[in-house]
Amino acid sequence: MSFLPAEVIKKKRDNNPLSELEISEFIVGYTKGQIPDYQMSALLMAIFLRGMNSDETLALTKVMLDSGEKISFPPGKIYVDKHSTGGVGDKTSLILGPIVAAAGVPVPMISGRGLGHTGGTLDKLESIPGFSTQLSLGQFKRQIENANLCFIGQTKEICPADKKIYALRDVTATVESLPLICASIMSKKLAEGIDALVLDVKFGSGAFMKTLSQAEALAQGLMDIARGYKKKVAALLTSMDQPLGRFAGNALEVFECLEILEGKSYFGPNGSDLYAETRELSVELAAQMIWISGREASLSKSLELATNILVSGKALEKFIEIVELQGGKTQGIPKPIFKKEIYSSEVGFLQTVNTEGLGIAGILIGAGRGKIEDTIDPTAGIEFHIKIGEKVTTSAPMLTLWGNNKEKLDQASVDILKLFEIGNHPPGRLPLIAKILN
Ligand code: URA
Repeated sequence: MSFLPAEVIKKKRDNNPLSELEISEFIVGYTKGQIPDYQMSALLMAIFLRGMNSDETLALTKVMLDSGEKISFPPGKIYVDKHSTGGVGDKTSLILGPIVAAAGVPVPMISGRGLGHTGGTLDKLESIPGFSTQLSLGQFKRQIENANLCFIGQTKEICPADKKIYALRDVTATVESLPLICASIMSKKLAEGIDALVLDVKFGSGAFMKTLSQAEALAQGLMDIARGYKKKVAALLTSMDQPLGRFAGNALEVFECLEILEGKSYFGPNGSDLYAETRELSVELAAQMIWISGREASLSKSLELATNILVSGKALEKFIEIVELQGGKTQGIPKPIFKKEIYSSEVGFLQTVNTEGLGIAGILIGAGRGKIEDTIDPTAGIEFHIKIGEKVTTSAPMLTLWGNNKEKLDQASVDILKLFEIGNHPPGRLPLIAKILN
C-alpha cells in the first residue's frame, strides 16, 4: 500500500473527488484485509454524505467488478438480463425469464435473496421442492448455452469486494447512497457477461426510492455506468405503492406465476383481475429485453412476440424445463396450513398502502428473514384482495395472511389494518409503468 487511508478519507470528507488510483487502492486494500473495517466505514460515511461524481462512481464499479471472476459467453448472441431494485410481491423474473428465453434470447440471471423488507428471486425459486440455485459457474454457463435461461445466486467468485463492503454498509447506515448502490448493483450485473440490461427501478411506499424523481436519479446513475461499459440499457420506472399482483410470499408467488404462465386470471371481490399487474409488467419487461437484444425490429413487434409466447404456453414449457434442469418439480409446491382473513372496519375506497410495512409483516409471519440465520417458511405470505382505488367493504376480506405458524399469523394481524388508508373517493395515482428511459 503506497498511500495513507486516512488521507483518502479526509479528501472525501472535505468534499474533494477521489482519483481512480485512490479508489482502487482503498478498495483492493480493504478486500485483502489490509485496511480495517473502521477506516472503510469512515470512507463509506464520507461517500454517503458527500456523494461521488460519475467518474468516481465508474472507478468504484470497476474496482469492485475486477475484484472477482467475470463470466464470458461465446460471441454471436446478445445476452440480456433484467434487474429490479426490489419490492414486495415483485415476481416478474419467473415469468419474463421464460418468455425471453423461449424467444431465443439468452438470459443469465444471477439473483439475490430478500433484502430488508423486499423479497428475493432465490427465496421464491427455492420454495419449489428440489430446486437448486447453487450451481457452479460452469453449470450456469452450460445451461445458458443449452436452454437460454438459468437462475443462480451470487457466488463467492463474483465481486467479493461488494460482498464485504455491502455487509459493512448494512451495519453502518450507509446503504442508501446513490453512488454506492449504483456501483454495487452494476458491478454484479457486469460480471454476468451480459451485453444488455433492462432495469426495473421501483418507486413508492414499498421501494427503496420513495418518489419518482429519486427513482429517476437512480435509473440515470445505473444507466450511466452501463453505457460507460458500452452495454445497451433501458429503464422502466414502476410503481411499488402497493404490492405487485395477488400474493407476496415465496411459494404463493410461484403459484401466482404458474397460474399466469398457464393463461389464468383471478378475479377479486371488485371484479378486477388480480394477476393483471404482474402479467402486464412481466410482459412489458420481457418485450424491452427482446427489443434491446435486437431479436425484433421494433418494440411493438417485441411486445407482440412476448404476448404470443405467454399465451401459447411456450413460456410455461420453458419454465418447467428450467425448473427440471435445476432439480425441481412444479407439482410439489408446498401449501400453507393456516390462514387468517382480515376484514376492514371501514367502508370506502382504498387510498394508500404502507407497502414497506406489509413487507415487514411478511417477515414476521416467516416469509422473509429478520436475521441472516433465520429460516423461511416457504408457504408464508399475504394475499391482497383489494387494490388501490377499489372499493373496501366490511363483508369481504381485504387481505389474507397464510402460513404454517398460526401464532405468527395472529400476532401479525393485530395492527395490520393501520397500513391501509381508506377514503371516500378513488384516489389519483400514477400508472404502474410511470416512465420508460432508453
Ligand atoms: N442491491 C444491491 O445489490 N446493492 C445495493 O447497494 C442496493 C441494492
